[in-house]
Amino acid sequence: MQYRRCGRSGLRLPAVSLGLWHNFGGVDVLENSRQIIRLAFDRGITHFDLANNYGPPPGTAEENFGRILQKDLHTHRDELIISTKAGYDMWAGPYGNGGSRKYLIASLDQSLKRMGLEYVDIFYHHRPDPETPLEESMMALAHMVQQGKALYIGLSNYKPDEASDAIHLLRQMGTSCLIHQPKYSLFERWVEGELLDLLDGEGVGCIPFSPLAQGLLTSKYLKGIPGNSRAARASGHLQKTDITKAKLTQVRQLAELAEKRGQTLAQMALAWVLKDPRVTSVLVGASRPEQVADSLKCLNSPAFTSEELNAIEAILQ
Ligand code: NDP
Repeated sequence: MQYRRCGRSGLRLPAVSLGLWHNFGGVDVLENSRQIIRLAFDRGITHFDLANNYGPPPGTAEENFGRILQKDLHTHRDELIISTKAGYDMWAGPYGNGGSRKYLIASLDQSLKRMGLEYVDIFYHHRPDPETPLEESMMALAHMVQQGKALYIGLSNYKPDEASDAIHLLRQMGTSCLIHQPKYSLFERWVEGELLDLLDGEGVGCIPFSPLAQGLLTSKYLKGIPGNSRAARASGHLQKTDITKAKLTQVRQLAELAEKRGQTLAQMALAWVLKDPRVTSVLVGASRPEQVADSLKCLNSPAFTSEELNAIEAILQ
């Protein structure tokens, strides 16, 4: 495993981290979830990313992760970076969503209970909340660090101007923003404008989520929708309508290029995100242990030539 420094902090994260959004909930097979985590940790993936609402049902990914931790990893707590988040719908009524101090602090307490932890390493505000003053949300995050319930703070899905305001407010409150978690892949390029420059300038790390576009940036959908794939599952967030003919044409061409480079499309897509030194880690998902093993081979990728990078841009146009 390679470990990369997260912004200007003292923390290094594995170049590949594992997210528990899908395949770790109450609807999933716990033993499979456990085998994915065991393989990941054995291969040097020290960072596991969760959120209050991961499941389904919401909360069950944290409960299952807590069970797996207890069974397999309880003696390794100091070798792990565990993150969670709050921001989206979690419980009924006016205090179960958004960015209020009431919601964020109650949610972290619930997450700690579900995972059986005394603290998380990183707590994220999962999304900006235009209805709550940013000062209130940031003060709640800074308070978690002062209480010792979170070691570091992160932001997710914040646009550059929102991120800039939040980073400065946190700094005024004596808490650095460690990391930003945006969606970024060959198919989703918005971070390349201002956001990556901002994070670099402020010394904040970046951990892109869905770097495989939820599995679209693999060869699996080239011959139809496999029954065990995310697009086929009722609980999957990848919609069949996202798998368009135009996307598949691009995927086919990208897969051919990956083959010429001697790797799978998944490995090439991850290596492509990781080639930017401003990216700290790629946050992948997996439905089977073998997928983690396959994806990790992105770390042995040949460097991209300028011809290959141009060919990728031509395919994506
Ligand atoms: P990916 O884009 O990595 O998609 C993961 C899916 O791709 C897997 O479930 C699997 O699909 C397929 N896959 C993975 N590896 C391979 C492989 N080597 N070969 C073939 N197929 C493969 O990421 P996710 O969308 O899962 O997101 C990753 C994490 O990012 C989440 O778990 C979560 O922690 C975080 N996230 C954060 C969000 C935020 O708002 N902050 C939003 C979304 C995600 P299949 O199931 O079909 O086998």
